[in-house]
Amino acid sequence: MFAFQRWSSALEMKRYIQRYCHHIDGLPDFSALRFTKYNQYESMILPLENYLRAHGVKFEFGFNVQNVIFDEKNGKKLAKKIVYLTPDGKKESVDLLEDDLVFITNGCCTDTTCYGDQNHAPDLSKVKNCSGESWDMWKRIAIQDENFGHPEKFCGDVEASNWMSATIDTSNEEIIKAMMKICKRDPREGKVTTGGIVSVKDSQDGWFLSWTINRQPQFASQPKGHVLVWVYGLYTNKPGNYVKKAMRDCTGEEICEEWLYHIGFPVSEIKEYASKNCNTTTSFMPYINAFFMPRQVKDRPLVVPEGSVNFAFIGQFAETPRDTIFTTEYSIRTGMEAVYTLMNVYRGVPETWGSVYDVRELLKASYYAIDKKQLKDLKMKPIERWALKFALKKIKDTDVEKVVKESGLI
Ligand SMILES: Cc1cc2nc3c(=O)[nH]c(=O)nc-3n(C[C@H](O)[C@H](O)[C@H](O)COP(=O)(O)OP(=O)(O)OC[C@H]3O[C@@H](n4cnc5c(N)ncnc54)[C@H](O)[C@@H]3O)c2cc1C
Repeated sequence: MFAFQRWSSALEMKRYIQRYCHHIDGLPDFSALRFTKYNQYESMILPLENYLRAHGVKFEFGFNVQNVIFDEKNGKKLAKKIVYLTPDGKKESVDLLEDDLVFITNGCCTDTTCYGDQNHAPDLSKVKNCSGESWDMWKRIAIQDENFGHPEKFCGDVEASNWMSATIDTSNEEIIKAMMKICKRDPREGKVTTGGIVSVKDSQDGWFLSWTINRQPQFASQPKGHVLVWVYGLYTNKPGNYVKKAMRDCTGEEICEEWLYHIGFPVSEIKEYASKNCNTTTSFMPYINAFFMPRQVKDRPLVVPEGSVNFAFIGQFAETPRDTIFTTEYSIRTGMEAVYTLMNVYRGVPETWGSVYDVRELLKASYYAIDKKQLKDLKMKPIERWALKFALKKIKDTDVEKVVKESGLI
């Protein structure tokens, strides 16, 4: 739940609470989280790519898909042409038949990402509302059919959907010790959760910083002893607490200074350590929270829209029930749903975990949500206390009492 803003979709928040209610006990120390060994690219995408290549899949990079053209007859919808720009900017197209299947990732949270480094702030000159190759393509697709979604709902307000991320590379002992004071763990031990996500409370009215260290090394080729810290700020237009500039206007070094300040580094040494003992790269992501923007039914197209013969929408901006966005799992689920449906694979997509329908999980979640208190210790009006007493008497020596007891509530 690390990227919700105060203006984010309440509907998505509800989905999150329902989806992960069984994990509430693991949130204080993040033992609820699962991580891959290395970063997601090396641990998930590369192995998958290698597997697919070995099975004859051909990858083409650098192509910009401009549009997919559809035809509708008697309620049947057919993708009949893909229009694209080649890497050298030539406009070309490919005609499609009913047997050609098209899987469209409409919308992309990292579209138009602007990168900065230790000495440069990111160049934001290309950032505009609803602009970028994924949005441009989706807009051209959406105007062809009212069931193909409303991209502008997600990409229409960059001020609301952006935030910024930075990676600090350090092997400095003093800095690592300062982090360990907060996380109480050595990030070099190779443990899964090695410190964080730490939300910096003092930064709430500034950049609203958080930071975390995933299992180290994060990259197979990372030099031994180096630690990569992931820092991100949700408000990129406000001055920081130490660096009195908007985060988006800062170099990597300046972002590192603000972070060192918040982990309690001596102020007199901040500048020197940020410049000499850290290398900080940054990225401004205009659409990173696009999928959290408030939405209504039909703003995202269904994975397989009604009447589709040969195409499906996949990824974070396709609609599948109950699952939550900003997860790799959501994209995988939509992919499975798309392939199983279009190819008539007689297999069910695994259900989104059903803890919200499990009374044991709900009771346990309630216990942790009220800071592990028993019902009798809660503040109650006399009538409520009477009702509780009455209910407990009613369930005495029954299976219901057993289940409530197991939750810790009584
Ligand atoms: C900073 C960050 C932290 C995250 N943390 C987590 C996490 O902890 N756990 C988790 O589960 N998920 C996390 N995610 C989310 C997860 O990475 C994404 O949801 C997932 O990668 C989406 O996968 P996808 O294949 O659906 O879409 P994408 O990865 O967005 O891929 C879409 C691809 O389509 C390409 N494309 C788009 N338009 C066009 C076009 N017109 N022509 C050609 N190509 C086009 C894009 O370039 C891109 O390569 C995180 C994401 C970010 C950015």
